[in-house]
Amino acid sequence: MNIHEYQAKALLRDYGAPVSDGRAVLRAEEAKTAAGELDGPLWVVKAQIHAGGRGKGSFKEADAGDKGGVRLAKSVEEAATEAKRMLGRTLVTKQTGAAGKQVNRIYIEDGSDIERELYLALLVDRGTSRISYVASTEGGMDIEEVAASTPDKILSFSVDPATGYQPYHGRRIAFALGLTGSQAKQCVKLMETLYRLFVDKDMEMLEINPLIVTDKGDLKCLDAKMGFDGNAIYRHPDIASLRDETEEDPKELAASKYDLNYIALDGEIGCMVNGAGLAMATMDIIKLYGAEPANFLDVGGGATKEKVTEAFKIITSDPNVKGILVNIFGGIMRCDVIAEGVIAAVKEVGLKVPLVVRLEGTNVEKGKEIIANSGLNVIAADDLKDGAQKIVKAVKG
Ligand code: GDP
Ligand code: MG
Repeated sequence: MNIHEYQAKALLRDYGAPVSDGRAVLRAEEAKTAAGELDGPLWVVKAQIHAGGRGKGSFKEADAGDKGGVRLAKSVEEAATEAKRMLGRTLVTKQTGAAGKQVNRIYIEDGSDIERELYLALLVDRGTSRISYVASTEGGMDIEEVAASTPDKILSFSVDPATGYQPYHGRRIAFALGLTGSQAKQCVKLMETLYRLFVDKDMEMLEINPLIVTDKGDLKCLDAKMGFDGNAIYRHPDIASLRDETEEDPKELAASKYDLNYIALDGEIGCMVNGAGLAMATMDIIKLYGAEPANFLDVGGGATKEKVTEAFKIITSDPNVKGILVNIFGGIMRCDVIAEGVIAAVKEVGLKVPLVVRLEGTNVEKGKEIIANSGLNVIAADDLKDGAQKIVKAVKG
């Protein structure tokens, strides 16, 4: 689960990390009062969407102006005007895709004078099963580009969970970032704070880009992105309350309400599978036969008919889906339950695309019988390969 920059900065502030004073604004009328509560003489007006690259982004609507989603203002009035121009408009950045994202919240912040822009991130490194730091002198820009063109400018190392954070970790980062004296001290303190926050809140990712050195020589977190482990959110009601459902894919949101593991993808073949491994294999074999999966969907081990029905509805609601492959290996999950769920869903929402069903395992005969007697136009498949070939052929001709 991701949160907005202003929410992330509030968490940073709570933990004592250096951030500017700022106000979140939901309605244009609030902008002037919010800006007036800040000191000036420089204000930064920032579109709040769950995507980076806002500064270099552009708006779809001409009346939003052409200055991107991060704007500097020299007066309260100018700050309010910029906030009004962005609210409700659609911001397109490198990370939003062509459709862009509607700006429903604005963050107005005290502007900083920047001496240097640095990059810093913490993330769960699956390779080492540890928390890793990533630091670079090349802040403020696309870190993927830095990694590709000048990888030597990135320092990355992981922290042994047995010792946790140690001051030498912070000194190593300070040295790599060219920070000495009081700045190095601030860096060591900040790295400890970020590590503690990361662990306390079960984060997956924390990115500060840029981390700046101000004209006064102090470190400050100028941007903040946080992602939290969805499986640990139940332990953090404070974080759960920060969820902004308007930022999420509506299909993924519906799936999460039914406890389905669903991830929307760009392809044309909708998949309903039980078990994450089988779902991965199904996506692979669809690609092998020349098509692309429209989603990852694991209905889980003990799915009920209602859950299967909901899963099927989510798949059919996706306009990109040109065909559906149901691939079930019944173990704990029974094939007849899947069959009943599919039929119930089709009765409710109809079936406008080809459907291939491959069932194997517990109650497979009963499941096949239910589908055969349903009168639905279903293409039966014998195994995974057969199923994948049939759905690709049905979609691609
Ligand atoms: P992003 O484009 O979504 O990553 O948004 P950022 O918050 O990182 O802002 C983009 C860029 O705007 C930064 O890299 C800075 O160069 C600039 N910027 C943001 N805040 C300030 C500020 O307080 N003062 C100045 N001078 N520039 C800022
Ligand atoms: Mg940034």
